[in-house]
Amino acid sequence: MIVLKTARELKVMSEACVISAQALKLIGEAVEPGVTTAELDRLAEQFIRSKGAVPNFKNYNGFPATACISINNEVIHGIPSDKRVLKSGDIVSVDLGALFEGYHGDNAATFACGDISDEAKRLMDATRESLYEGIRMARAGGRIGDISSAIQKYVEARGYSVVRQFVGHGVGTSLHEAPEVPNYGVSGRGCRLLPGMTLAIEPMVNMGSYDVKVLPDGWTVLTSDGALSAHFEHTVAITAEGPRIMTVAS
Ligand code: MG
Repeated sequence: MIVLKTARELKVMSEACVISAQALKLIGEAVEPGVTTAELDRLAEQFIRSKGAVPNFKNYNGFPATACISINNEVIHGIPSDKRVLKSGDIVSVDLGALFEGYHGDNAATFACGDISDEAKRLMDATRESLYEGIRMARAGGRIGDISSAIQKYVEARGYSVVRQFVGHGVGTSLHEAPEVPNYGVSGRGCRLLPGMTLAIEPMVNMGSYDVKVLPDGWTVLTSDGALSAHFEHTVAITAEGPRIMTVAS
């Protein structure tokens, strides 16, 4: 069932989203060679709790941390660790959210650690841009496939692939709600977009094949071919005035 949010609900939810965005920004600023992914995770958790919110990934289906931190060929769901030390040249995908007054925010970004290659930078830029291409299509009267298709076209035109096995989703009083928001598809297809829908749009883009596999830890998703992957995500509300990005840091 797709839950439409009232203006009052969107107002509360936007607070959860701002906290999520601020925590993500904080982590992004702390990414540098020598830092461990567990240190980044603690920073995010402390920040979210300092705002009176709760890290909503922690214990979600047993996930042990506040943030998913996935490096280079890791796509999503990397588990922060004291043993995982960032080095210059890494690209670091961070996905996290906050639960505040009953509503969830969810966002992700890939950050450069030190000096990264031009090809890594191009992948990150294309993934970020593909997210905005998708958001632009998040309009009342359209369909989910409009978002999916815009992302897929942008990504594939640049020679990259979109992950199929994991998709975006509705978000609200639950972290994951209907509908699914795939990053591939056909415009004009899928469920109708209505004012009050809140969607986590999140392209995961691989430099090589879209095939992924899961590590024996049960969480970390990797590209099957070992190629780099990037991930950007915003929580977006569909309003009568057009798409509204809710996960903004200020
Ligand atoms: Mg999400």
